[in-house]
Amino acid sequence: MSTDAYDRKRSPAKTGEPSGNSKRKPANRNRQPVFVIQEHDASTLHYDFRLEVGGVLKSWAVPKGPSSDPSDKRLAIETEDHPLDYADFEGTIPEGEYGAGTVVIWDRGPYRSLSSEKQHSLDAALRDGHAQVELDGEKLSGGYALQRIDADKGHWLLVKMADGSADARRNPVSTERRSVVSGKTRHQVARDVRREHSE
Ligand code: MN
Repeated sequence: MSTDAYDRKRSPAKTGEPSGNSKRKPANRNRQPVFVIQEHDASTLHYDFRLEVGGVLKSWAVPKGPSSDPSDKRLAIETEDHPLDYADFEGTIPEGEYGAGTVVIWDRGPYRSLSSEKQHSLDAALRDGHAQVELDGEKLSGGYALQRIDADKGHWLLVKMADGSADARRNPVSTERRSVVSGKTRHQVARDVRREHSE
């Protein structure tokens, strides 16, 4: 897997985002893979859901963000694979650049594939269009299913599985807005970046 599509869309000299193929980390087989969800205040606010698979972050843009309610089916639109370092990116992408706007690390943590129990790798499960993962984040935990609904458009549904961590009343996207890394809201991240640049 590669991040060529990621690199083509970005100008490394102009954006503070990590570059793609330049810094591939050696695989550490003892480490659990990570997921990250980044709130991204671009032309429209959305949440980027990313899963570490095969040395890259498989990525989907979720317009309404993830839900903790199993009856919510959230549209998730496939986007280009991102470099692993992107899981640490919080800040602003400058005006005029691809994805311009503020990025906040909304949730992050290890995950495991529930599909692998059936001798089926997550990569293969995603190619088949149906995967289940168990997240161990600070805001989200337990099972989430990804179901492809339109391969041509790259449209999937992200749905909370009905398990012990399901909660129909929580609505984490609107009630738990702060970064799990800096504790800042997206407005505070944007303000602090502006201050740094004006100093
Ligand atoms: Mn995005």
